Amino acid sequence: MSQRIAFFTLGCKVNQFDTDAMRELFEQAGYETVDFDESADIYLINTCTVTSTGDQKSRQMISRAHAKNPSAKIVVAGCYAQRDPDRVRLLPGVSLLIGSKERSRIVELVEGLKEGQAPLSAVGNLAGERAFELLGATHESRTRAQLKIQEGCDRFCTYCIIPYARGPLRSRPLADIRSQFGQLAENGYLEVVLTGIHLMSYGKDLQDGTTLLDAIAEADGFPAIRRIRLGSLEPQLLSDEFVAGLANNPKVCRQFHLSLQSGSAGVLRRMGRRYPPEEYAACAQRLRQAMPGCAITTDVIVGFPGETEAEFDETLRFVEETALCRIHVFPYSRREGTAAACMPGQLSRAVKAQRARRLCALAQRLEQSYLESMVGTAQEVLFEEAKDGFIEGYTGTYARVRVNGASPELAGRLYQVDIRQAENGFLLGSIIESSHKEE
Ligand code: SF4
Repeated sequence: MSQRIAFFTLGCKVNQFDTDAMRELFEQAGYETVDFDESADIYLINTCTVTSTGDQKSRQMISRAHAKNPSAKIVVAGCYAQRDPDRVRLLPGVSLLIGSKERSRIVELVEGLKEGQAPLSAVGNLAGERAFELLGATHESRTRAQLKIQEGCDRFCTYCIIPYARGPLRSRPLADIRSQFGQLAENGYLEVVLTGIHLMSYGKDLQDGTTLLDAIAEADGFPAIRRIRLGSLEPQLLSDEFVAGLANNPKVCRQFHLSLQSGSAGVLRRMGRRYPPEEYAACAQRLRQAMPGCAITTDVIVGFPGETEAEFDETLRFVEETALCRIHVFPYSRREGTAAACMPGQLSRAVKAQRARRLCALAQRLEQSYLESMVGTAQEVLFEEAKDGFIEGYTGTYARVRVNGASPELAGRLYQVDIRQAENGFLLGSIIESSHKEE
């Protein structure tokens, strides 16, 4: 009988990618994936350490797995295992720790575990790591796949633990990106999301002038791939030349996640971010001039040490003036080992929560007005999923669109949709015509 394995992922999209890639390795080796709430032979918890809540939730999930089946092997992977292996090793039930490399050997490592042995640690030292771990692409939906092309970061923003947990930057070789695009095209994926920890640094370690534009261009030979969506970008590196390169490629989705973190120059300086707000605004304008109607989304941290009311107000004003259309709001979380953890002026949980609520309210208003700006236009939608009586998909700008009464057979195809209404975070419309080309 095949071994049953259950997965749980904490944290970001890149972690989700890593889990999905490991799941595929286990499934190829004949393991059966079961729900995390079921009794399994192996539990794999892909942990997060970006906030202290990430650490705590990671520990909770390990103990939940142990309670479900005390004789199961528990594999702890990811950033928390990498950052604090000594603590993770002592948690009841843990059999194996995998850090930010060795994931591609996970099946072999699990199969080598012996009954009753002490937890095995495959958490390597990441200092000076240069190799990009070649995990395959993963599948977000029937039509959309994710491909991680970059790992690690060398920016050391003062609040961030990621460079310690994921090591220096490494890039997937172009030839491998091309072969992944080929496989995804063959398997019917129309959209590929390129992800990484610091995507804009893609190619820097290759030291031959390769950039993210070269990685995107690898999709050119595959007409079946209609959309390339980019993960998080950084304003500082968005030159005129780079933006022109994006604009000249019709496959590049007109949605750009441009990391902001704060709209206050003082806070950005203390965060160790390398751009002032004016530079961010100039990049947003550059993107909009080159690609009118593009969506600019972002992340903001509120309650950074020493953030005054006046500085927080600068952020509110900045996001409103820049008309950012979707904002992920994070209350600052103190991470031991980072420079910001020792900064004076740590704010109370109540102040951070109150600022997060104010920014979320503004974010909701901005998102609604962005969606309303699309009412009355025609948008190309890639339909992904049919549910009871309607079908849903996304525009290139990543607005969710619902069409009532459409056939489920439209899933996996591109259609022009007349947008009639914006409500509760999505658009309602009706189909005008197919824009799907069979390749
Ligand atoms: S750029 Fe800054 S915030 Fe982003 S992963 Fe690197 S250190 Fe962390």
